[in-house]
Amino acid sequence: MTARRLERQDALRERIEAEGLDALLVTHLPNVRYLTGFTGSAGMLVVRRDDSVLVTDFRYAVQAPQEVGNAAAVEIDAASVWDRLRRVLGIDGIATVGIEGHALTVREAERVSGLTRARVTPAGELVEPLRAVKAPEEVAAIRAAAELAQEALAEVLPSIRAGRRELDVAAALEAALRRRGSEWHPFPTIVASGPRSALPHARTSAREIAQGELLLLDFGAQVDGYCADLTRTFVVGARADERQRTVHELVRAAQARALEHLRAGMTGREADALARDVIAARGFGDAFGHSLGHGLGLEVHEAPRLSATAEAPLPLGAVVTVEPGVYLPGWGGVRLEDDVHLGPAGPELLSDGRTELIELL
Ligand code: ZN
Ligand code: ZN
Repeated sequence: MTARRLERQDALRERIEAEGLDALLVTHLPNVRYLTGFTGSAGMLVVRRDDSVLVTDFRYAVQAPQEVGNAAAVEIDAASVWDRLRRVLGIDGIATVGIEGHALTVREAERVSGLTRARVTPAGELVEPLRAVKAPEEVAAIRAAAELAQEALAEVLPSIRAGRRELDVAAALEAALRRRGSEWHPFPTIVASGPRSALPHARTSAREIAQGELLLLDFGAQVDGYCADLTRTFVVGARADERQRTVHELVRAAQARALEHLRAGMTGREADALARDVIAARGFGDAFGHSLGHGLGLEVHEAPRLSATAEAPLPLGAVVTVEPGVYLPGWGGVRLEDDVHLGPAGPELLSDGRTELIELL
């Protein structure tokens, strides 16, 4: 793993040099983890021309050297990580330091500027494009997370019936995820029933699920830091009525088209249109108000984006979600989400793609 991390840092150094920087201060924690293996909640990595230094505090005095190994020098400062950072940035030859403008508050950026005589400049996202292209072990971790999530879902489904509250279903699902080894929930589990399923980012509530209602579950799992993200929509306690069946079939057809034609090299907008065109052709275009998907990795939402405004091509090796939905306020909504690796041989499903309409009778 150390060799992989050093390779990543070398690739980053090429970008740092191309930007005319002498060093990059990496403060976005998923980027720090990607480059060094450090999983703590506080730490800053300085990537210099010839070496890298992770600065953290007393809480990680044991953990940081264990996790980082030879991927970076580790400096622990019990008094002030900022004082330590001043020394790390103060070495000869550092005239320009890049900061991650998207991951630092204005106050923190001012603080960094006050530490050094070097010019401090926002460098944009230099690590994220590297992270978008997954190595085999990263794809394997996402696949393991998806499998774990599917097993947890299968365990919980028989216990879902009318009269149970959304929160009870979420509790059962989250417990099953944790028992199977999910390190954490990458985002708050969404359990949305009846009309609440029309809220694309519903908060799970104390509402009781009623017979014959749609039930939307959007949940994730995390393995070795890598996230899976799945959505399934069910009908509870009765056969689906005609409208539920029609909307579900439409979303399923849209997702199937996207999964079939999605390729690395197409733009995020072209990918989004694969599903959106199917939904719009049936007159439901306005009911699909979010983008088709997002990258998955150490973060549950990362590069690349599959959206109507994304002109960047999807990189070969990316892992993305494909999650069309149709939301009809007051009635309900259907979303189906699977995880896909854009490999050299075409898209490879990492989740099970089992999106047929299930009636939980
Ligand atoms: Zn999701
Ligand atoms: Zn998602």
